[in-house]
Amino acid sequence: MRQPLVIGNWKMHGSLSANDVLLTALLAQLPAQLPARVAVCPPAVYLAQVTGRLQGSKVLTGAQNVCAEAQDAGAYTGEVAAAMLAEFNLAYGLVGHSERREYYSESDAVVARKFARLQQAGITPVLCVGENLEQREAGETLAFISGQLMAVINELGIAAFANAVIAYEPIWAIGTGKTATPEQAQEVHAYIRQLLAKQDETIAAQMQLLYGGSVKADNAAELFAMQDIDGALVGGASLKADEFSAICKAAE
Ligand code: PGA
Repeated sequence: MRQPLVIGNWKMHGSLSANDVLLTALLAQLPAQLPARVAVCPPAVYLAQVTGRLQGSKVLTGAQNVCAEAQDAGAYTGEVAAAMLAEFNLAYGLVGHSERREYYSESDAVVARKFARLQQAGITPVLCVGENLEQREAGETLAFISGQLMAVINELGIAAFANAVIAYEPIWAIGTGKTATPEQAQEVHAYIRQLLAKQDETIAAQMQLLYGGSVKADNAAELFAMQDIDGALVGGASLKADEFSAICKAAE
């Protein structure tokens, strides 16, 4: 039985005051016994504030990014090391988000290194994969997803996935209001699980596979009803306490 998991990706949003308002409302709206495993990923500068604010609750915190080059410290201006993130007892770290791949030219090799850095620091990597609209329309979705996943598996070995999460996020659905249909999402999730099963059946059966891309309170339940969708990676709707808490409840 896989535990449902809902992760909020705040992206580059927030402020000290807005974060406080959001977390206060979120904690008020989530039942004390959480309906799912729940985490939020604020910008790195707010990790201290957010982990402090969430202390005593069951809501977890994650990072949006990590330095690929060095584990603990080094001459990497502007970067944050995995060991620094670990000081905040983070549960998760995002890697391979399409915005990182597109705007910061992160290759599969860089994504694999970030994945390994997080794991070495005791933080569970959330590996994001997903095709763009052109690839979907050309019928290349599954081949593309397979390439993104196999790049990391070939680099780190399937055993690295015993402690990882995979998020399928079709680029055409991110921030567009255009959600994949539950059937479209399920097709890719089932494919990802099969692909993992060819490497290791136990890991495949246990893997929490999240869907991401315009998940909202009113479409979450139908997505979560699909057999291979174990939760969601939520962008825009994670900035609204009522939307995000409703999505968490739908995951129960
Ligand atoms: P969205 O973003 O929910 O705003 O579409 C999802 C994501 O990019 O993780």
